[in-house]
Amino acid sequence: MEWEVVIGLEIHTQLATKSKIFSGAPTAYGAAPNTQACAVDLGLPGVLPVLNEEAVKMAIKFGLAVDAEIADRSVFARKNYFYPDLPKGYQISQYELPVVGKGEISIELEDGSEKVIGITRAHLEEDAGKSLHEDFHGETGIDLNRAGTPLLEIVSEPDMRSAKEAVAYMKKIHSLVRYLEICDGNMQEGSFRCDANVSIRPKGQEQFGTRTELKNINSFRNVERAINFEIERQIDVLEGGGEVVQETRLYDADKNETRSMRSKEEANDYRYFPDPDLLPLVVDKELINSVRATLPELPNEKRDRFVNELGLSLYDASVLTSSRELADYFEAVLKASGGKEPKQCANWVIVELSGALNKAGLDITESPVSAEQLAGVLKRIADNTISGKIAKTVFDALWKGEGKDADAIIEAKGLKQVTDTGAIESMIDEVLADNPDQVQQYRDGKEQLLGYFVGQVMKASRGKANPAQVNDILKKKLAG
Ligand code: ADP
Ligand code: MG
Repeated sequence: MEWEVVIGLEIHTQLATKSKIFSGAPTAYGAAPNTQACAVDLGLPGVLPVLNEEAVKMAIKFGLAVDAEIADRSVFARKNYFYPDLPKGYQISQYELPVVGKGEISIELEDGSEKVIGITRAHLEEDAGKSLHEDFHGETGIDLNRAGTPLLEIVSEPDMRSAKEAVAYMKKIHSLVRYLEICDGNMQEGSFRCDANVSIRPKGQEQFGTRTELKNINSFRNVERAINFEIERQIDVLEGGGEVVQETRLYDADKNETRSMRSKEEANDYRYFPDPDLLPLVVDKELINSVRATLPELPNEKRDRFVNELGLSLYDASVLTSSRELADYFEAVLKASGGKEPKQCANWVIVELSGALNKAGLDITESPVSAEQLAGVLKRIADNTISGKIAKTVFDALWKGEGKDADAIIEAKGLKQVTDTGAIESMIDEVLADNPDQVQQYRDGKEQLLGYFVGQVMKASRGKANPAQVNDILKKKLAG
C-alpha cells in the first residue's frame, strides 16, 4: 500500500510587545518566578483586561505580509479549562472570529520549485503560566510570569505532504516573523513553538485520515523527527489492521518517539463564549493603512530584487534572504565594497563566511568578521592587490582577529600580489630552467602542462604572483 502524508501546523509565536496582551506587566524573559505577573495575569477577582494595541498591530502586520483578509470585527472568547498554570480557569483567545483570516505563503521545495501553503487563520490569544516540576520533590511549582504574554497562533491548511515540507514552511514563517520584527523567534525560550497535526491516507484517496496532534516541539530538527516517527507509527497501526485514534501526543526528543498524552478534546469541551469583559476588536482602514506603511521589504520581494537587480541566481538570492540579518549583512558588504561585484560578494558571504560560521556554530550576528572587514578583502581582490586564493588567507586572519582590516593584514604578512613583470619573468625563467623535460614535452604538444608550470611559479612566489600575468608570460615564453 502506498500512503500519502498530510500535515497541518499550528505555530505559536510570542509577540514582541513590551507588556502583556491584557495587562501592563512586562513580558521580559528570565525574571525570578512570579515577579512579572500582576493582578490581571493572576486572575484575581474584579480585575478587567485591557487590550494591548501593539499586539493588534503586530497581528495585522503578519496578516498583511501573508496576503490575508484582516477582519474588521473580531471577537475574544473564553476557552474554559482547568489547569494549575491558568488561575482564571479560562484562556482568552479568539475563536469564531479571528483578526487574521485566510492567507498564503510560498515555500521552496528541494527540487527548486515553489509550493503555496494556505494559512487558515491567525488569532490573538494569551499564553498560560508554567508548571515547574524539576526543582520540587513531590510538588509542582507554578510560575505565572508567562501568563498573559501575547501569542499569535498561526494555523495552516493541511497542505504539507512530508516532514521536509513542514520544516520548510515552519522556517519560512520563522524568517517572516523576524523580518516583520513581531517575534524574536527564540525557540529555546519558547517564543516560537509548533504543534504538528499528522495523518496518512492511501494514495489517491480524497478523504483525510484520522490525525494526531504532536505537542512540545521546539526545534526544526525535532519537528522533522517527530513527524517522521509519527508517520511510521501510523503506517504500522493501519497495516497491522488497527485504527489511528484522534489524540494529542507528546514528542519525547530524548527517546525520539511520540507518546499518547490525552484523547483529543473537541472544541465544545471548552465551552467557548465571547468574553463579556472585552469589546469586539474593530479594525478600520486607517489602522490597516498605518500598519501597512510600517511593512519592511518582505523576504520574497528582497529575493526577487537580488535576482532582477543584482543578477544573482535564484538559489543564492534565496539563501541570502533566508534571514533578515544575513540579507542585511550581504547588502552591507556590497555597499562597502563599492557595489560592483554582487555575484562575488554573494559567493563570499554564502561560501566562506557562512561556512566558517557554521563550523564555529555561530550566528551571522555573532560573526567575528564584520561586513566592512569583508568588503575590505573584496576591494583588494578587485584592484588586484591580492588573488582570490590569498584573500582566503586574509579572511582567516581577520576571523582570528590578527589585524584590524584587510590592508593591515596584507601589509603585516607581506601578502601583496607581485605584479611587477620583471619579478614574475625571472621566477618563470627559473622554473623553466629547472624543468627542461617538461618544457620539451609542452613544446611537443602536451599543452596541458601549462597548469603544472603555473603551479610551480605560484609556489615559487608563495601564492603572491598575479595568476593572470603568470599565465600570459608563461605562454609567451613557452611558445619560444
Ligand atoms: P484544533 O483547533 O482542534 O486543533 P483545527 O481544525 O483548527 O483543529 O485544525 C488544526 C490543524 O490541523 C490545522 O493546521 C489543520 O490544517 C490540521 N488538520 C486538520 N485535519 C487534518 C488531517 N486530517 N491531517 C492533518 N492535519 C490536519
Ligand atoms: Mg490544535
